[in-house]
Amino acid sequence: KGSAWSAALETLEFLEKNKVKGYVIGGAVRDTILSREIEDIDIVLEGAPDIVWSLFPHAVQPSSSFPVFIVPRHGYVFEITTFHPDKESLQMNLEHRDFTMNAMTVEISGNLIDPYGGQSDINRRLIRSVSSPLQRMKEDPLRKLRAFRFVSEFNFSLEESTWQAVCADGIGLQDTAKERIQREIEKILEGKACSRALELLLASGVISDFPDSIKPEYILTNQKSPELEDFSTIEEKWAVFFFLLYSEQACCFVNSWPIKKRIRSRIHYIIKMCTANPGGVNWDTEMVYQNGWRTAIQIETVSQWLTGVQDNKRLEHILNLAQSLPIVSRDDLQVDGRDIVRQHPCLPGRWIGYLLDYLEEEVLYGRTANKRDELLSLVKEKLSHER
Ligand code: ATP
Ligand code: MG
Repeated sequence: KGSAWSAALETLEFLEKNKVKGYVIGGAVRDTILSREIEDIDIVLEGAPDIVWSLFPHAVQPSSSFPVFIVPRHGYVFEITTFHPDKESLQMNLEHRDFTMNAMTVEISGNLIDPYGGQSDINRRLIRSVSSPLQRMKEDPLRKLRAFRFVSEFNFSLEESTWQAVCADGIGLQDTAKERIQREIEKILEGKACSRALELLLASGVISDFPDSIKPEYILTNQKSPELEDFSTIEEKWAVFFFLLYSEQACCFVNSWPIKKRIRSRIHYIIKMCTANPGGVNWDTEMVYQNGWRTAIQIETVSQWLTGVQDNKRLEHILNLAQSLPIVSRDDLQVDGRDIVRQHPCLPGRWIGYLLDYLEEEVLYGRTANKRDELLSLVKEKLSHER
């Protein structure tokens, strides 16, 4: 993987060789000015969408209703869109972008085209709609969330009329695809100024315009401590977000979000545990063992955020319990089902599980060492009692 810009310029040259004019646009231009690493490269080219298929036969079009094409090239992901020069100028194309900092392009000569003052807004750390903010938000209400996303990623401020438009009533997100909403929220949660972005999101009222928001009556009292930036996993941040959005009904709504299933079920579990234990979970050996210390820490962190009581002693307590566990899971037992069957071939099947439960508990509570011989004789003894 070489540098992003050599990949980008090579692609513009390839287009030129095929008599197509292309421009680098969006995140790559913005992030270069911000001295940030470039993740993916957006290209806009002049022509009908069909040109993309003929030049990049391996292109993928994720949604048949949007002419956006994904092309992997030189180790980068290129996102290619088109505009027709007879119907639209480059400037008009830029006018329909969301914010000035995203409405800049670089042409093949390396020249920067910046008709809306994106560079100066970046220098002033401002997020500003390209022309009439209210109209922009009406065109695509997702831009409201994108505004908070850039607050979170860059710790920028919203320019006043842009902020007013974000707060404007009657431009809800009811008709916006959940997948798009979810992507922006995830970026908000991952950003370095996530707490500030969420505070603004709450203050703006946008949150009650969400597709299935329950318009929470009960506002969480201590939302600000601890800071979300300190959370180490995205699951914890999602859990907090769902509490903000749905209050104590959070559990019921998580599964309607298009989050990857594995992550979603973990978020759901964290929320369930926090809801079921409003005063905090009572962590003991068994609770830490059953949840695993990582999940226990996640539950405790979210629960402390909910109650607003920050208490590192409780986190330490979990880690201490975890360290003193003789086994981390049943797989660590020095005896398994086959060992028991070998020694007691006539034992009914359901007894095996029962005996393993018994051994697990004996070892967990330190009543028996996790040693093969001791465990097998314990089985023998148990069976002689039970029979
Ligand atoms: P990232 O670094 O996440 O890729 P990005 O700004 O490049 O940030 P993309 O979603 O890749 O975001 O979009 C590429 C460009 O398309 C944006 O920079 C912006 O110019 C334009 N754009 C994307 N979404 C919208 C939208 N909802 N409204 C207007 N313009 C948009
Ligand atoms: Mg991009």
